Amino acid sequence: MNVRIVDSCKVYSFKSGIFPPFMLDIYFYIVDGIMIDAGSSNIVNKAKKVLENETISAVAITHIHEDHCGLASWMQNNKKVPIYIHEQSVNEALRDSDIPLYRRLVWGNRMAFKALPIPEVIKTKHLTFDVYDAPGHHPYHVVLHENNKGWLFTGDLFVSARQKVAFKDENINDTIKTLTRLLSLNINTIFCSHTGVHTNGKEKLKQKLEYFVNIQKQVRELRQEGYSNEDIDKKLFPKKNAWSIVSQGEWSSLNIIRTVD
Ligand SMILES: [Zn+2]
Repeated sequence: MNVRIVDSCKVYSFKSGIFPPFMLDIYFYIVDGIMIDAGSSNIVNKAKKVLENETISAVAITHIHEDHCGLASWMQNNKKVPIYIHEQSVNEALRDSDIPLYRRLVWGNRMAFKALPIPEVIKTKHLTFDVYDAPGHHPYHVVLHENNKGWLFTGDLFVSARQKVAFKDENINDTIKTLTRLLSLNINTIFCSHTGVHTNGKEKLKQKLEYFVNIQKQVRELRQEGYSNEDIDKKLFPKKNAWSIVSQGEWSSLNIIRTVD
């Protein structure tokens, strides 16, 4: 576990999983009494040691994936705080997650919790977070923007500028639209749930947008020439990613290609 403070935001990072490659970085943030994203259940023993001493008035979750709300049930039972998520994910949160073995090894099952629909604005003592729909990685993904600070808490919207594989829930067209829309905001620093804090946040988001727009262009051109999605995948991503094999295709470069319209 590691903690550092960026401006007034506490940045917590953990390794989730049992051994490489089933071990990945996970971040959550605590700022002015709000916890943003809630890690994976596999880190609960390490995380509860710090969470027990934190003053937290609410938890805001960017999306329902088990690595963003794995601590939500612990927070609910032990800190008795409201937990906010996209209104379309409130019902799903009432049931434990049902995920394949590799995800249980890396992140652990998400236990059920009772969430409230995330409001459009979350005000804390010193800060105001505007909540924006940000579909792409997941259809019911939100991001939190603090305009005065130029902060954007991006959940899994960013992760990396040159994304090589996409999860089965992802839609690249939606990611392109979301990034285009969010780039009109005042953004300095982005807070990612897997790669931490990026101080040149707007530039990073722009790079990701350009990367996906370029892929979209190439996919459209190759389709015009008669190539199938599978052929295009082999051309644009000739190297098979280890996660595609481990996840049996839940993560793949083909998921990037097939959602380009
Ligand atoms: Zn996710």
